Amino acid sequence: MKLCDAIVIGAGYAGAVAARRLAEDGGRRVLVLERRPHVGGNAYDCPDEAGVLIHLYGPHIFHTNDRRVFDYLSRFTKWRRYQHCVIANLPRDNPEVVPAGKTTDGRFFFPVPFNLDSMKAAFGEKEGARLGQKLLDAYPAQSQVTILELRQNPDPEIAAIADYVYEHVFVHYTMKQWGQTPEEIDPATTARVPVRLSADPRYFLDAYQGMPLEGYTPMFEKMLDHPNITVELGQDALRRLDLADGTVRFDGELFQGPVIYTGQADELFSFRFGRLPYRTLDFGFETLERDCFQTHGTVNYTVDGDFTRITEFKHLTGQVLPGVTTIMKEYSRAYSGAEGEIPYYAIINPENNALYARYRAEAAQYRNLYLLGRLAEYKYYNMDAITAKALELTDRLLEKK
Ligand code: FAD
Ligand code: UDP
Repeated sequence: MKLCDAIVIGAGYAGAVAARRLAEDGGRRVLVLERRPHVGGNAYDCPDEAGVLIHLYGPHIFHTNDRRVFDYLSRFTKWRRYQHCVIANLPRDNPEVVPAGKTTDGRFFFPVPFNLDSMKAAFGEKEGARLGQKLLDAYPAQSQVTILELRQNPDPEIAAIADYVYEHVFVHYTMKQWGQTPEEIDPATTARVPVRLSADPRYFLDAYQGMPLEGYTPMFEKMLDHPNITVELGQDALRRLDLADGTVRFDGELFQGPVIYTGQADELFSFRFGRLPYRTLDFGFETLERDCFQTHGTVNYTVDGDFTRITEFKHLTGQVLPGVTTIMKEYSRAYSGAEGEIPYYAIINPENNALYARYRAEAAQYRNLYLLGRLAEYKYYNMDAITAKALELTDRLLEKK
């Protein structure tokens, strides 16, 4: 399509929301270019060969406190009531405390985030209740406390709790996920999964949470289904985009409308300052001939194993499919930039942020180029945060007219 007023690169949350707003509220003709053969970015879902609805790029659960985001997405999907609950599965290291009745094959389980019930599972009913009360007394005005904050507490008993949680929830999982300890990574990362000062077993406490009733992909298809939007799949925009001396050329011609780019910032500028570091994931899918594999949507292997977690999709989607289920293990490793690898997680630290800032400054040379999204902004954003950013950016663009 030659005649377009705006170009959007990427059809994940950032791209799809931005495209829809410009098309619908701004009357712009929008060309969306997506490198993959499908829309939805990392939130894409599809049935596997056994007919189980899976998330190809890792388990996605929608949650937000932002009413505007929830209302906006609700125009394109109905929701399934779903509150994500996660348990840790770990070796039982203290048979005296953790009664055999609560274990299977020498392993035991407790809710994650670690909460007052986890405390009882770990330390026994009576002692766990006493230690739980001690925590409540230590942090009377908080509903949760981060592991790094808890580790600062000088009280010996609380320090012992902190050590336990650090060892049994955080350090090994974090090493598997990041190749670094909780102290070495951005503190905001472990703060995503705090120690809960209640027995609430939910992973997220947001006001709005659930799963798109028909899945994520239909929601994206609906969002992008607008007469002013053209989506081209299997299109690497960087083959058609040329950035030089503050001007954007597309298919060889000067393009002056907004260009919203949601891919990697370093790739946009041919890695000229060096590569931004990321973690990637390998996913191990297994389809099993049984109704159900595990008790929860996600089970975290917080101490052992070479994968971080196992997700069983049927719990998330509510799909009824007797006799078959699909599970997925996540293996994390450094992103190398090899063909086909996907950069899933930015590695946030001062050095990488400084490198990113150079790319950001480069992008700022182009008055009609906008970096938007988890990759383009080099941030650890959830789906709702990206949606909010896309709404804010398009608010500004629509004001400009
Ligand atoms: P993306 O989804 O990455 O989309 C960017 C798109 O741009 C991609 O489709 C890519 O192919 C395309 N693209 C890039 N470069 C080009 C190019 N040159 N030309 C054309 N197209 C290009 N968030 C939650 O809220 N809840 C969860 O439970 C959750 N779970 C997650 C689990 C995992 C394992 C991961 C990795 C993330 C999870 N997230 C979750 C975060 C969520 O995936 C992101 O917030 C969201 O997908 C980001 O949307 P985006 O549009 O910024 O990026
Ligand atoms: N984390 C952990 N143990 C857990 C769950 C999380 O150590 O059982 C830490 C780990 O560093 C992880 C971070 O908390 O990367 C954030 O976890 P979250 O589940 O939010 O990660 P995501 O779903 O984004 O991969």
